Amino acid sequence: MSELKLCQGSKCHTYNTKDRLKGQKDNKTYQTRRRSSMYYGSGNFCSMNCQNDWFNDFGDRAIDHFGRLTEPKHLTEENAWVKGYDWHHITDECQHHTINIITKEQRPLTQAQYNDTNYTLNER
Ligand SMILES: [Zn+2]
Repeated sequence: MSELKLCQGSKCHTYNTKDRLKGQKDNKTYQTRRRSSMYYGSGNFCSMNCQNDWFNDFGDRAIDHFGRLTEPKHLTEENAWVKGYDWHHITDECQHHTINIITKEQRPLTQAQYNDTNYTLNER
């Protein structure tokens, strides 16, 4: 069995649902949810509520820490590459590509390049 992760929601334990009530018979408390996988906030939160709670408590500090935008970004040819794929029903093959949404130029990608979240043709 995979290891359980704790929801990072700062108020998770205050939502008194039955599944959060844990402990010995006469000593049960509402506790932060533990799950093998969570679907919100890159697998860190059990619900959208918990993700929003965390952001309300810490979002400003996180943005300041990693760099707050002070000027608008501009979509240009240099950063307009997005990933996509086409499914070919006849050959039953999936072809991955990256397409520049300004120039409409399309280039093939391997599946590994498609899956690699760090792989991009965009300038940073
Ligand atoms: Zn939670």
